[in-house]
Parts: sequence; structure tokens; C-alpha cells
Amino acid sequence: MEKRHILIVEDEIKIARVLQDYLKNAGYTVSLLERGDDVIPYIRKQPPDMMLLDIMLPGMDGMEICRELRKFSNIPVIMLTAKAEEIDRLLGLGLGADDYICKPFSPREVIARVKAVLRRSYPESEEKKIVAGPISLDENTRLVTVNDAELKLTPSEFGFLRILMTNPNRVFTRNELLDKVQGYNFDGYDRTIDTHIKNLRKKISERLPDQDIIITVYGAGYKFNI
Ligand code: CA
Repeated sequence: MEKRHILIVEDEIKIARVLQDYLKNAGYTVSLLERGDDVIPYIRKQPPDMMLLDIMLPGMDGMEICRELRKFSNIPVIMLTAKAEEIDRLLGLGLGADDYICKPFSPREVIARVKAVLRRSYPESEEKKIVAGPISLDENTRLVTVNDAELKLTPSEFGFLRILMTNPNRVFTRNELLDKVQGYNFDGYDRTIDTHIKNLRKKISERLPDQDIIITVYGAGYKFNI
């Protein structure tokens, strides 16, 4: 299981650092932003698994950020507020935040809330296994097997295979694949897709020499053939 990525948005640098240290120690990957107007562009580029969001921020306040975010993303948000009495008002605004924590808080309390919200948002018991013919792919463990033997893939290869397998026999264009795979540490551009697919195909065909699992549809894209 990969580390969850948590984005902290907090302009009081002392508070931000304490939160960052505690969350890192609890096993999370942590990023830090100080300005409110940096948040939406950041999330559009690399969506975290969760955000801790202060309300009073330079550039754009936390409420506005939350509203903007909910137009395109469901990532869980915990709002940090300076006043307990503010929480009722915020709840009334229906911002779509998942929880509220009042300052001053104990870092331990924050960790507990973070864990609770993550559990709610990403239930681990939810099995995410895709099976198509002799190939199975587990999204939680990222394990891919061919006839029950592990197939070692790079993150990009895993991402492309996953997309293709979610919809066997449907043709995906290169742009579609590129678009959908970005949450899976994709590290290349349009042209490199062909290389990743070629490598993926080679790895699979070593195990299944008699089957063309990934088909190139000329002028269109690729499909998973089963
Ligand atoms: Ca602040």
C-alpha cells in the first residue's frame, strides 16, 4: 500500500511544521502550502489523498478554496478554524468539508481525525480486484498476476493495464489513456505511451505467448482483448 499524501495549507509556519512532523511520523507523505491561491492549481496538477485547510490564508481563504475544490474534486478536507463558534457557521455554509478542527489543537487529535476521515473516504476492506481471463490486477496491493504468478510492472505500465482492464474490448485513445492514468504516477508524455504499451505487451506475452492481450487498433488506440 502506498503512503497517503496529505496536503497542509497553513500560513502560520510553526503550526504547519508541527503538523507536518506529526503526520510524517504517522506514516504519511506531506506537502505544505502557505498561500491560498496556490491551492487549486496545485491540486489540479497533483491531487493529494486529503487536505488540511486553514481558513484565514493570504491570497484566497479556506472557504472559497473548499467551494472551488468541490466543483471538480471529492478529496476529503479537514478545515482548521481559529474559533470554536465559527464551526457552526461553517457547517451552515455547506462547504463540503469532511471535518472541522479548532485551534489550538493537539497534534494527536489531528492525527486521530485524519485517520478517521481517511478510513471513511477510502475503506480498505473494499476489494478492488479486476480479473480478466488469466490476468488479475489488485488496485490496493498493486499486484498483477498472470495465471497466478506475479507479473512485475512499472507504475506507468500498471496504470495503463488497469485502465485497459476496467473495460475489456473497448478501444481507448492515447489521450484517454494519458488522461486516466495520471493518478498513477505517470511519468511521461503522449509519445511515451507507445513505449510503455510495448513493454507491457512484451511482459505479458512472455507469459501468454499464444494470446494477443493488448491490441493496437490502427489509427484509434489500444484495447484489452479477452
Ligand atoms: Ca491562517
